[in-house]
Amino acid sequence: MESSRQCMICSGGICRASWTSDFNTVLVSGNCVDVGFLHFNKNASLQELRSLTMQGQRTQLRLNPSPHFTSAEAFLLHESCYHLLREFSGAAISPYQAFKLCQAVQPDRERNFGYDLKINSSICPDPCVYIRPQKYLLQSEETELLLQPGIARCRGPSLLRLPSEILTIVLEYLSPSDLVRFFRTSKEALSQANLFCRTNPFHFYRCSTNTTGTEEDKRILMIAFSTWDRLCELDRRWEIVKRVAGSAKLIPLLDGKRLPVPTFDPRAPLQAVSHRFGLCQDFLDIPDHAEVIEVSSIALEGKRYVCGIGFVSGDSRVFCGNRTEHIRMIDVSSPTIDTIELAVDALGVRSIKYGSLPWLFGDPSLICCWRGLSLRQNHQKIRVVRDALKLRDLSWYQETTPSFQETILMKNRPFSLPSHGLIAEEHYVQRRPERERGLVRRFGKFPVEAMWFERDLRAIQIYGTGGLNGIIGISVQVLSDTYRAGACHLVPASITLNAPHEILAEIDVRTSEPYPLAVTFRTNHNRELSSEANGLLGLGVSHSIKTLRPPPGYRITGLYFRLEGLTLDSLGLILGSA
Ligand SMILES: [Zn+2]
Repeated sequence: MESSRQCMICSGGICRASWTSDFNTVLVSGNCVDVGFLHFNKNASLQELRSLTMQGQRTQLRLNPSPHFTSAEAFLLHESCYHLLREFSGAAISPYQAFKLCQAVQPDRERNFGYDLKINSSICPDPCVYIRPQKYLLQSEETELLLQPGIARCRGPSLLRLPSEILTIVLEYLSPSDLVRFFRTSKEALSQANLFCRTNPFHFYRCSTNTTGTEEDKRILMIAFSTWDRLCELDRRWEIVKRVAGSAKLIPLLDGKRLPVPTFDPRAPLQAVSHRFGLCQDFLDIPDHAEVIEVSSIALEGKRYVCGIGFVSGDSRVFCGNRTEHIRMIDVSSPTIDTIELAVDALGVRSIKYGSLPWLFGDPSLICCWRGLSLRQNHQKIRVVRDALKLRDLSWYQETTPSFQETILMKNRPFSLPSHGLIAEEHYVQRRPERERGLVRRFGKFPVEAMWFERDLRAIQIYGTGGLNGIIGISVQVLSDTYRAGACHLVPASITLNAPHEILAEIDVRTSEPYPLAVTFRTNHNRELSSEANGLLGLGVSHSIKTLRPPPGYRITGLYFRLEGLTLDSLGLILGSA
């Protein structure tokens, strides 16, 4: 059995702080989910966990080191994080609920949704334990000024001039270290600390010897923090506590019901697994005379996710997923709808656009996620894949394979532009077509990075470490902006176009297994920029070159590409009319 190395609640891993080595595990064990405990043993390749419910039962668990590994049958939770979760939820959590929560809050790591994989290795104090402030304050000019009545510092920060309700809202967003910096600016600022800590218990969670917290305690506590030199650890601790509290709110949504078999693999939602603990699939028949579409959403990590969808027709109603109080109901104006667009990220569906109706929970370019499309074939029937909290995917029920453009989830489309732009398989080169076919077989769609420059392209930069390492980033400069995708921190190879007459005319893409892609951008003035000036071609490596060129009447208005790990693995043209 395998698990990723991260805690599903705080997303942190194993680091120097000793509390991060103790884990609770939730895993599929036969016909049920079992909770266990393991202490990380750095000298063992397989970790041994012991069941907390079945005495004497031990299981071997491999911790997969890859940041792209998605857990399907076993999850780790720091013992402290799980402990807090149970405390915050105020009720017992069944193993099945814990498993469903882990599955729902785990991002899809297999498809590489950009750079949102934060592996935080910083150390921080155990979120469960009480932190005791320093008993003796160092005498400094600052502490003296703050403790002596009547001595004010020159001028308070401008924040204090805000109306108090606004100030309270602003302070809630500040990290503990920023708050400490703010509180120590003046006596007046410090006077906010007491009320703040009462109404926001998570920023300085358990940072007191005295839980009732008299005013003087808090005051001294705050100053004590200001002399503590590892404030950033408190910030990380606050993030963890905040996340645990957010997860605890979701527990009531996770009912203890088991799914009927078959369920679907989180690593391949189009493929069934043999146990009851995977993702579930629903089909929704849209009534012939549907009048209203209902879509509900939940908040997860500060974002909204679609968690249920249904239709109303006269007295009848169909609905699948979780119905929450955040529900939008919109009249379905047209009787037949052919397109559904989706905004998705690594955790699931963020927003839906049903036919010509507006986006229900935000436009993907404004909420920073990937945009996908599904085209109706024959049936008025929708297929939904969901975890216990929210939708993972949604599409029309299709009997034949989806079109090329339906397999692409595209990032960064400016919302002023029409739908997908024109993309087609013939204007797309993959280094490993089989890998992408596999993603389509398993997930239906895969994410690509995209850059849109319309008629405003001014410069292109290619980032790579040279030689055979491939391209790790591309940036394009348009009139007033620069768009970057991938890693753009090295010194790039670059070309500046003599706009408006010089435009990008064609791109040569060289593929030669097993080497990474190489590209040459060429303008209508026959100037070029190549990713590999003195590369493989000189070495006589066998390769093939495909030239991507817009058909007559079209021009290149954007580029899109898939990153595999850190390397550009495919490249395609977005076309617009000339
Ligand atoms: Zn954790």
